[in-house]
Amino acid sequence: MAEFNGIRAIVTDIEGTTSSISFVHEVLFPYAAKHMDAFIRENFSAPAVAEQLDEVARLGGVDRKSPDALIKQLLDWIAEDKKITPLKALQGMIWRAGYDEGAYKGHVYPEVAERLRHWRELGIRLFVYSSGSVAAQKQIFGFSEAGDLTPLFSGYFDTRVGGKREADSYRAIVREVSEPASSVLFLSDVPAELSAAAEAELQVCQLVRGEGIERQEAYPAVASFADLVIKPA
Ligand SMILES: [Mg+2]
Repeated sequence: MAEFNGIRAIVTDIEGTTSSISFVHEVLFPYAAKHMDAFIRENFSAPAVAEQLDEVARLGGVDRKSPDALIKQLLDWIAEDKKITPLKALQGMIWRAGYDEGAYKGHVYPEVAERLRHWRELGIRLFVYSSGSVAAQKQIFGFSEAGDLTPLFSGYFDTRVGGKREADSYRAIVREVSEPASSVLFLSDVPAELSAAAEAELQVCQLVRGEGIERQEAYPAVASFADLVIKPA
């Protein structure tokens, strides 16, 4: 159990916090890799896709007119685990198609939806901060195993606000949330993210869900959202 007082807003990470790391790595990424070839060929001229392919050609230095060359570049980036904007955008489009077809649902740990609702009922506003794009965040929660959870969230942040291991990112989030930093609780599994948030004077708590996560002794930790006692301001 860990207790937090004077809370007005909660900012939560996704992977390793609300959702399993393996869902992203063993379901979403392989799905995008498997369907990238067909998706690019079928949507080569669609404006939203063409716009991203312009960027793939520019950043990768490959022939814009060659679907083969563009697809190879995208698959190389996936294999190298590169976080490149047009790749993330195209993956997001493929994942959306997968959610729409019911190929999978967004994973959330069993207690998460009920706890999020409870905190909303206490008048606490909820936000997401993840290195996945805002579009991908909305998909995980919008098509989750517990139904559409997006009405519970007041806002979403991705790396456009800054890196997750930089204190300035959390300062920027606090400004957007418009609450004192000390009334904002940040939840994550990654010690370096907790340190950055704590440096920005947020309250922090580590989720240790047993996916090989290293315990950060400097901060409170819980094994699930059920062990969080939140007292609103
Ligand atoms: Mg995480």
